Amino acid sequence: MIKKIVYITLLLLLQGTTTMAQKQYPLNYFSPPLHIPLYLAGTFGELRSNHLHSGIDIRTQEKEGFMVYAPANGYVSRIKVSAWGFGNALYITHPNGYVTVYGHLKAFNPAITAYLRKIQYEKENFEQDLAVPRNKLRIKKGDSIAITGNTGGSEGPHLHYEIRDEKTEKPINPLLFGLKVEDSLLPVIQSIKIFTLNMSEDKVYEVKKKDKIFTLKSKDTLIVPAKFSLGIATYDVIGNSTSKKGIYQLELYVDTMLFYKHSLETFSFNESRYINCLIDYPTYVKTGVKYQKTSILPGNKLSIYNNSINKGWIELNDSLVHSLKYDVLDVNGNCSELVFYVKKDTLMQKMPLSTIPLTDSNLMISYNKADSFCTEDVKIIFPAHALYDDILLKYYTSAAPEKYYSKYHEIQDVYTPLHKSISLAVRTDTVADSLQSKLLIVRIKDDNSIDAEGGKFENGFIKTNINNFGKFAVLLDTIVPVIKPLNFKDKKKVSNLKILEIKITDNLSGISKYSAYLNEKWILMEYDGKNSLLTYTIDEMMQAGNNQLKVLVEDSRQNRSELIVELEK
Ligand SMILES: [Zn+2]
Repeated sequence: MIKKIVYITLLLLLQGTTTMAQKQYPLNYFSPPLHIPLYLAGTFGELRSNHLHSGIDIRTQEKEGFMVYAPANGYVSRIKVSAWGFGNALYITHPNGYVTVYGHLKAFNPAITAYLRKIQYEKENFEQDLAVPRNKLRIKKGDSIAITGNTGGSEGPHLHYEIRDEKTEKPINPLLFGLKVEDSLLPVIQSIKIFTLNMSEDKVYEVKKKDKIFTLKSKDTLIVPAKFSLGIATYDVIGNSTSKKGIYQLELYVDTMLFYKHSLETFSFNESRYINCLIDYPTYVKTGVKYQKTSILPGNKLSIYNNSINKGWIELNDSLVHSLKYDVLDVNGNCSELVFYVKKDTLMQKMPLSTIPLTDSNLMISYNKADSFCTEDVKIIFPAHALYDDILLKYYTSAAPEKYYSKYHEIQDVYTPLHKSISLAVRTDTVADSLQSKLLIVRIKDDNSIDAEGGKFENGFIKTNINNFGKFAVLLDTIVPVIKPLNFKDKKKVSNLKILEIKITDNLSGISKYSAYLNEKWILMEYDGKNSLLTYTIDEMMQAGNNQLKVLVEDSRQNRSELIVELEK
């Protein structure tokens, strides 16, 4: 078949944004933070759950304890200690207007630790987010500042490393600062998806690779509707690891014209959740595959787009064959190319657009306006821009099993993403006044497992904010958390131990407070959320002879547990 490429005969509304040149960043100002070969477990802008990855994840040979060295002069400007997220995190501000950030650390250097400990003891709280006064903790290039770990939400030992602009606080791809990471492998293209105005006609086309060339597995001319957009399942590979890394840049050319482009140079934290409209969210929820859409929804405010024409929607007004080309690049410039062709389906009936019935129970919610939906059992309030596109709200209610204190409320579906949280109030069954504070909203998942959503009792309703649609009901939580010593027992010697470990768990609403006292004095217990673990490193607070250890744990419905043991040192 002879390919006939016709240049720019598309019906285009030329609303393209101009291509922005990439900013120049100081090269080699920052030396590598680790003195081991740099292999990445994660790239900047990688598509994560509800966020774009804000830094790079540097592998640490599957172990903890590598020294982290200051990449340039500066001062510690923030120390954050959290049972979740980045765990132990350090922020260093440099004189050139950038801030480097280190996450999931096992520990800080002695000077930083001493500064932090003093405040932890003063405030009697392990978790801290400290703005450190300028020049209180000065750092020289090459100083050891911390050791690598696996704290917070980390799923394996590594260093999370970020470079942020000091003024805007926007993270920037650290690999644009001259950090050398060996990667000569091409990004992988798995498949493409054609999106149509009538979702039921969306189609997936698998991609194959031969001799570094990517082509469609099917014949390479696709018959498409007059108006369509595209998505691509693609990822980068680095070194001999087969895990999927994020790409750096995606371009789509229509008849050799640049039609769409995004690059992961920088973004702001408040736009990170737009990941849910950058990808084809319903397919991701159903299958886990992330198609990066090369079309842009009305409520999508991501700043990573350099160029987009007609919001990425391609319109064909002739019956000629047109060429489409995807260029997928990693940050080292390795580029995978996929070329295929499209031709308008001349037989296809034009879809009438207003075939959706509007009924009383179905309410149109605009993405850019505040709105609400209320019945006598439920109140849902949408702030403006909670959605990426207008939706016809689906809502169903039904009787729930006896253990619930409300009806079931199914709101929209799990395939529609929310950008901002919306307010949900659910009418509860009548309970004694003393139990009102023990009620909470829960989300019931398809497998019948339950997630706590919290909430506050107010005039017969429980009210909370939710970040996802789904099925909701009210439960009662009167069960106290469980406190279980792991490596010691009551009235036993602990003189051979360096640390005390305690597992703390809660059945439903989740742990909200924990504290520990040795001989009536507060002691620092580090809390590791993902392992439900409290750890006390035995120090001078434990005296020779008998000691009383008291641990208090409270869940978010104020159910309190207490453990008291006698320990002999
Ligand atoms: Zn990370």
